[in-house]
Order: sequence, then C-alpha cells, then structure tokens
Amino acid sequence: KMNTDLGQHILKNPGVASAIVSKAALKQSDHVLEVGPGTGNLTVLIAKVAKAVTAVEMDPRMAAELTKRFQGTPEAKKLKVLLGDVIKTDLPHFDICISNTPYQISSPLVFKLLALPNPPRCCILMFQREFAMRLFAKPGEKLYSRLSVNVQMWAKVSHVMKVGRNNFNPPPQVESNVVRIEPKNPRPQISYEEWDGLLRICFVRKNRTLRAAFLGTSAVVELLAGNYRLWCAQNDIPIDDSPVAGDDAEVDVMDVDHVTSGVHEDEEEAWHGFSDGDDDDDLPDFFKEAKAKVVKGANRKKKGRVSELVREKIRKVLEDQTELADKRARLCDEGDFLKMLYAFNQEGIHFN
Ligand code: SAM
Repeated sequence: KMNTDLGQHILKNPGVASAIVSKAALKQSDHVLEVGPGTGNLTVLIAKVAKAVTAVEMDPRMAAELTKRFQGTPEAKKLKVLLGDVIKTDLPHFDICISNTPYQISSPLVFKLLALPNPPRCCILMFQREFAMRLFAKPGEKLYSRLSVNVQMWAKVSHVMKVGRNNFNPPPQVESNVVRIEPKNPRPQISYEEWDGLLRICFVRKNRTLRAAFLGTSAVVELLAGNYRLWCAQNDIPIDDSPVAGDDAEVDVMDVDHVTSGVHEDEEEAWHGFSDGDDDDDLPDFFKEAKAKVVKGANRKKKGRVSELVREKIRKVLEDQTELADKRARLCDEGDFLKMLYAFNQEGIHFN
C-alpha cells in the first residue's frame, strides 16, 4: 500500500527507469545519491553501473524492502540506505544525484543540491511538469519566476524527457518531466542570501515595475533601511537617524505581508494546492526578523532620516545607475539582477 502523502508513486515502466539512469551517463567510479528509492526500481539499475549508491528513504517499510531486494546479490555491498528525510540528512559527497522526486520536496531538494559545498557533476531529477518547466523558463515566458532565476544562476538546466502519469503506480494527478541540473563549477562568487533576498523583492509581483516593487510600498524601504542601519553599525559608519518632521512621516506597516509572503499572484493560482516549497516555508530569517522589526518600529510612527536616505539610494540605483526602474522582473535576465545587486551593494544596501 502506497503512502501518497510521501509522494509514493512507483515507476512501473522499466523503459523509463532505464532511460533515466542512462541519461546520468554514469561512470564506474561514480558515487550516486538516490533520493527516495522506494522499492528500488532505479536503485538496481544504478548499482549495476556505479561504484556506490547512497539511498535516502524516509519510509522505513520502503527502506526495509529495498535492503531485502539487494540481499544476497553482488551489488549488496555497493548500497548504503540512510533512513530519514533527505532535506534534514547530512549527505556524503557524491558525483551524481538521481531521483524520482517526491514532489512535496521539489524546491528544498533543488536548493539543497545547489548549496552543497562540493556539488555533484550532474543531477537527473523527475518533477511534476509545471515545476520542471519553471526550472528552465526564460525571461518573458509565462513560468519565469524566482525559482527559474535562482536555479539558472547556480546551474545549467536542461530538459530530458516527458513522462506520462500512467507510468507510475498509483498514477499521480499530474504529468512529469525529467530534467538535468548541472551545477556550475566553479560556483559563482556571490552570496546566495543576497541574491535570493533581492529576487524575493523583485518577484512579489513579477509584472510590476522594479520602481513599484522597491518604492511602491514603504515596507520594502523600511526593510532595506533596517539592513542599512545594521551594515553601517558593522562598518563603523555614523548615521543620523533622527525623525523626519512632517505629515507624511507615518510608517506604513500594512503592506509588509505582501512583501514577505513571497507567494506570487499567478503562481498561487497555478499551483492548485501543490506545495512547491517556494513560498513561506523557506522564507529567510532576515525577512521574518525584518517583518517583526517593521511592526515594532511602527510604534515609533516617524520615519527616520535613514529611511529617506535609503529611499534616495534605491531611486538612484534603479533610475540612474542601472536604468532598470521601468523594467518588470518577468523580463529581467540574470545580467539585470546581477547589475542591480552590484549597484545596491555599492550603495551599502544589502539583502541579508
Ligand atoms: N524511486 C522509486 C521509483 O522511482 O519507483 C520511488 C519514487 S517515489 C515518487 C518517492 C519516494 O521518496 C518514496 O519512496 C517516498 O517514501 C520517498 N520520500 C518521500 N519524502 C521523502 C523525504 N523527505 N526524504 C527521503 N525520501 C522521501
């Protein structure tokens, strides 16, 4: 009996299973990580070629069945089963990752793989179709999102094949695609937190201009002003944060949820209740803290001079330095985001 809460959909078509493993172009010296081996339909094919397989499985019944399937075979000594949630497991080094991924961990798994200090040569992963398409969507395409920009920053992503739902037992509700993710080597030398922090602001509504994304709600300005104060303190830069006089100096705190929720308007609609982990779950702590800070700061009710200074810095970056103020996130490419991040950082504005 399958546990569909754990995304248990066993691949029953042997042709698809061998196509997935052959797309990994395994070498005899490779150590492979398999996420969610289930009953082992991919694992046996991997173990025939590779030197070693570490299989991380959350369901003890599946782990036991897998161990049994290997017992007494020549490949038994190649297999190591780790029982637990792959997201919370310390992974050994591996060369290749192969997974018929349980869909509820799609997004955290991708980010875990890309954040490894010593990333694998290649990952062959099966995802539900729309998630897969978001991974390789380009600027201007409907599914272009924060996930697309993020993944494409750290890896080369390509499409491998479509897999219909009837190749699984039980069939999932949606179609699937296999993708290849090859982490860039060497890793781009930018901070993941800064990069993702910038993207979160830009992609709250990907169809808004960047000017509106950054300056349209004072919540973003307050957030960045908070980071700026911290940065100044860390760098011994004195700041004058006395209140600004005037009627329009009220801090608008109502909009902060809209910035921090990170759920995109058409993504919400597109997801029909599937969690891709791309919303509140992986909200960076700085956003949560900033949210608390902004709400607390509202008691003060007066905008400090730092907020005004930061607002002016943002305007300068978007209008004068990058000339991206009128562009919309959905049309920005990696180069645009990098240019923006660099210009903000030059002004002492940080996103983590
Ligand atoms: N690899 C098998 C196949 O292709 O037939 C099974 C794939 S099935 C889609 C996903 C497997 O991942 C299930 O065996 C499930 O128990 C396991 N799983 C679910 N969540 C997991 C997690 N967080 N960490 C590790 N394994 C997980």
